[in-house]
Amino acid sequence: MSNQDLADLIRNVPDFPLPGIMFKDITTLIGNGPAFKKVIDLLVERYRDQNITAVAGIESRGFIFGAPIALELGVGLVPVRKPGKLPAETYQIEYSLEYGTNKLEIHRDAFEPGARVLVIDDLLATGGTIAAASKLIEQAGGTVVELAFVVELGFLNGREKLAPYSVHSLIQY
Ligand code: AMP
Repeated sequence: MSNQDLADLIRNVPDFPLPGIMFKDITTLIGNGPAFKKVIDLLVERYRDQNITAVAGIESRGFIFGAPIALELGVGLVPVRKPGKLPAETYQIEYSLEYGTNKLEIHRDAFEPGARVLVIDDLLATGGTIAAASKLIEQAGGTVVELAFVVELGFLNGREKLAPYSVHSLIQY
């Protein structure tokens, strides 16, 4: 199964959640067993020998991909969540979107000292979400090894905004 086969399984939903947005729906990809497995295998293969000690998944679709990758790498999963969901002491960051702002949180004690963190989300658009998540991860003492995505909307130039972080994606538009 090629990366193009994986791309063909992503459904385009026009005007969701707002008019003018072409939503890349990964439910049709993860609903296909061999395709879901292929995505996980490709990412695990890339990170197996990079001394990753934790995977951070961004709520909520980052959890779907982050969990099986962490399991395969034999490391823990750290959830980066929307505000008010994590029960213990957290760090919080607020970041701006095209309209308004969003917040993310992480547990203060999420990482062991010297943690080497692989950060996972389903899709890179402007990069605002993952940039904020990366700051939180660093605040909690983690070192970001790479930012990995299943889908990258290249025309939004998120990758440039994220420099000097290393960015990896399986499917580009
Ligand atoms: P950004 O912060 O602009 O990089 O947006 C990334 C977050 O928004 C990710 O968590 C994506 O799941 C979601 N997202 C943004 N644009 C889209 C899109 N066109 N299709 C699906 N998800 C999107």
